[in-house]
Amino acid sequence: MIFLDAAATTPVRREVLEAMWPYLTGEFGNPSSHHSLGDAAATALAGARAATAKALGCRAGEIVFTSGGTEADNLAIKGIALARRAADPRLDRVAISAVEHPAVEESARYLERVHGFAVDVIPVDRFGQVTEEALAAVLGPGTALVSVMYANNEVGTVQPIARLAALARAQGIPFHTDAVQAAGWLPLDTGALGVDALSISGHKLGAPKGSGALFVRGRIRIEPLVHGGGQERGRRSGTENVAGAVALATALTLARETASLPASVPAPDPASNPAPDSAPDPARRVAALRDGFIAAVLAGVPGAVLTGHPTERLPSVASFCFPGTSGESVLLELERQGVVCSSGSACAAGSDAPSPVLLALGIEPEVAQTAVRFSFDSTITAAELQEAAAAVRTAVAGVRALRPN
Ligand code: PLP
Repeated sequence: MIFLDAAATTPVRREVLEAMWPYLTGEFGNPSSHHSLGDAAATALAGARAATAKALGCRAGEIVFTSGGTEADNLAIKGIALARRAADPRLDRVAISAVEHPAVEESARYLERVHGFAVDVIPVDRFGQVTEEALAAVLGPGTALVSVMYANNEVGTVQPIARLAALARAQGIPFHTDAVQAAGWLPLDTGALGVDALSISGHKLGAPKGSGALFVRGRIRIEPLVHGGGQERGRRSGTENVAGAVALATALTLARETASLPASVPAPDPASNPAPDSAPDPARRVAALRDGFIAAVLAGVPGAVLTGHPTERLPSVASFCFPGTSGESVLLELERQGVVCSSGSACAAGSDAPSPVLLALGIEPEVAQTAVRFSFDSTITAAELQEAAAAVRTAVAGVRALRPN
C-alpha cells in the first residue's frame, strides 16, 4: 500500500515511542504527586516543555499541553477572545480566514452563537492566500483576535504569516495561527513569525493522536476552557498526559531537522516568513518529489486542475480536482490499486457537501466535489510517487468511463 494521506495522520515514530514508553510503564507517576514517582513525572514534563519551547522559540511557561490541535485551537480562539472582552467589553469581534480548519471556524461560531461576538471572515484569493489588504479591511477597534492558519490542510497553501501577524499586532490585536499542518515542514520560531499564539498537533508529526500544544505569548491573557486542579498554570486543568508531552517534544525535536521553506520559495524574504536555518533538508527533497508528482498528474490526466498555490504550498501536499469524476469514486478506485489518499480533509469525511475551503477559492461546487488530496511524510520515494501518478491516470479514466455524459 502507498500511503498518501499523511496530512490526516502519521504513524508513531520509533524514537518517539521509545522516548514515551517509560512514562507509560515504570515511570507512570502523576506529576502532582509528592513522592519519587511523581517527581520523575514532573521532571519529564518539565523537560518536554523545555524541548517544545525550544522548537517553537519561546519560553517554557508559554507552552500549554493539550489533547491535540482541536483543543489548542479552541483554547486560543475562545480563551483569548473571552479574556480580552472581559477586560474591555468593546472587544467583541474575531477575524478568521475563509479557509480555517473546523476547529477554528467552529470555535469562532461558538463565540458568535453563545457569547454574542461578531465573526469577520477574511476572504482568500484563488490560491487560498490571505492578502495584507484583505486582512486590513476587516480589522477594527472591536477586533479581539485574528486567526489565520499557517498552512492549509486541504490544498497546502502557505500563508505569509509573519506579514499578517505584523499587521494585526501593529494595531494591538493578538494573532493566532493554526500550525498543525505546517509543523514538521516550515519554520516554527514564534518570535520570527511574530505570532501571539500557535497550535500544533502530535499525530501529524509522528507522535500519538491526543497530544498537542498551544503556545501563548506570556503577556496574553487566556480564559481556561477546562476547569479543575489548575494544571498547566491554570490554563488547562487535568492530570497531564506526560507520555504524550514527551512524545510531542521528541517528534518536534526530530522534525526540526526536517523543517525548512518549500523548495519553490525563492530567496528568503526577511519581511516574510523566517528563513530556514540550514539546508539541505528533507523538506526540499520532498518538495521536489511533490513537483514531479504534480507535473506527472497534470500531464497524464486530461482536465486535471491543481488546487491551492502553485509555489507557496507545503512540500507534502498535492491536491487536485478531476472534473467529470467524483472525488469519492476516484478515492475508492485508487484504494483498489493500492494507493490511499483523501477526497477532501479527513475531518470533513462522511459529508459529501463540497469543501468550504475549495468554495472559498472560487472553485465551482460541482468541480469542488471532484477533489482529491495526496499528502506525504518525509519517507516518501520517487518510485512510490511514480506508481501513484500512474494509478491516478488509470483511476480517473476508469471513473470517467463509467459516468454518463
Ligand atoms: N488544524 C488543522 C489545520 C488540521 O489539519 C487538523 C487535523 O486534521 C486539526 C487542526 C485538528 O488537530 P487534531 O486532529 O490533533 O485535533
